[in-house]
Amino acid sequence: MRLWVFEEWRIGVSVGDDPEWLADVTDMVPGAGSWPPVHMNALVADLPRLGPVLARQAREAGPDRRHRLADLQLLPPVPWPSKIVAAPVNYRQHRDELSAAGGVYAGQDIKTVMDYGLFLKAPSSLIGHGGTVQLPFGNRRTDHEAEIAVVIGRTARNVRAEDAMAYVAGFSGLIDFTVRGSEDRPFRKSFDGFTPMGPCLVTADEVADPGHWRFSLTVNGAVRQDGSTERMILDFAHLVSLASYHTTLYAGDIIASGTPEGIGPVEPGDRVELEVAGLGRLAVGVDSAPAPATEIMGDWAAPFQNR
Ligand code: MN
Repeated sequence: MRLWVFEEWRIGVSVGDDPEWLADVTDMVPGAGSWPPVHMNALVADLPRLGPVLARQAREAGPDRRHRLADLQLLPPVPWPSKIVAAPVNYRQHRDELSAAGGVYAGQDIKTVMDYGLFLKAPSSLIGHGGTVQLPFGNRRTDHEAEIAVVIGRTARNVRAEDAMAYVAGFSGLIDFTVRGSEDRPFRKSFDGFTPMGPCLVTADEVADPGHWRFSLTVNGAVRQDGSTERMILDFAHLVSLASYHTTLYAGDIIASGTPEGIGPVEPGDRVELEVAGLGRLAVGVDSAPAPATEIMGDWAAPFQNR
């Protein structure tokens, strides 16, 4: 099942395998229409019961409830999770490229998720397919990181890896935008728009083998990243286990699973597209900030702007 969030946090469901149309099932989702838009979290938690109801509603929806995806403003498929947990350096090839000669952190001793643990991104950094990322610091390198997001389906605390996938509601594409530099990861990765997610949530029952999953990212049509989940240091199950030991995970929580090699800078005007086999295509634009940091905050902020 494919779940979409669009316009004013309305909920859509794909009809069968149709890639171009969705059925609006918002009226069937408890809590829809209120703010903050946490009804998707509740929907995900209730998916075993509500999923078949929504699927039937989608099949029976009349023309007035069917919308062409190309006509809709899409939002992240979980717009208001309690948290985004993220894995730093979960692919060895990515670690190697960071510290290699000419790399972003050339000569530095870059470690992996087993050394760094996990970090958090602000949920307010989420945007959907078709959104735009604004680069906060025009002079500083900001990179794309192609990733796959896990969406948690029910409360998970101290879950062992062998049981962990039963807590996963589904998957989505995710781009973890990152300002390079010395500040802590949550600062450099939590700017508004820095977590594009989508285009939709694909439920776990539609994903045959998350351990062998190809995904690629292009900038202006040129391939930058071409990865496979085979090469993760911690696979999805172990990430869920570790995250559930760190914090209680709630339905709708997102785990960004790390990026393979090929990260690189983006510039205003770029178009970044992530394609994950079976999950669809997530495309966003890149723009500059409306004003330099010093113009908004004052000259004291110059070290952030020019670092
Ligand atoms: Mn990342």
